[in-house]
Amino acid sequence: MHPISLKDIRSSFINATRSEAAKLTPPTNLESLDWDSLDFLGWRDEKMPLRGYLVVPTTQGLSGILLRAPEGDARKNRAVLCELCRDVFSKEDVLLWVARRAGQSGRDGNTVGTLICADFICSSNVRREPPANEIHPDPTLVVQRQVGEMRERTEKFLLRVQQQ
Ligand SMILES: [Zn+2]
Repeated sequence: MHPISLKDIRSSFINATRSEAAKLTPPTNLESLDWDSLDFLGWRDEKMPLRGYLVVPTTQGLSGILLRAPEGDARKNRAVLCELCRDVFSKEDVLLWVARRAGQSGRDGNTVGTLICADFICSSNVRREPPANEIHPDPTLVVQRQVGEMRERTEKFLLRVQQQ
């Protein structure tokens, strides 16, 4: 994705109030991120650890989603796959993140949930090249496919949040 600023981030949210967007803690390394290897920007709020953010570039511009993690470490789960990267090798925790729906539906209390890597490392997961084998002789093609599929799944999640 293209580099984005904190101002871009704050104005991108489709399911957060102005004050929620204003209060968010930006990712610490925003200035030094390797944007080329990111399909979206996702991070946990350092000061409010139950909050996470996903900012997705789309053809209509940036769409930010405010997410809530379940309370308590008991819900951390390594036995399930992240719905975005579907990485089977990662040892990172996967959490059921819940997003308020956009617009009136969200104000009425409707939410959607999805499993996402606890620290949103999905873009790097899908870029890990598998060893070449007979079925997949070219690891870079596998990575390309994984990246494409993850973008599609991210878009679908975004649509679920936008649905009224
Ligand atoms: Zn993931």
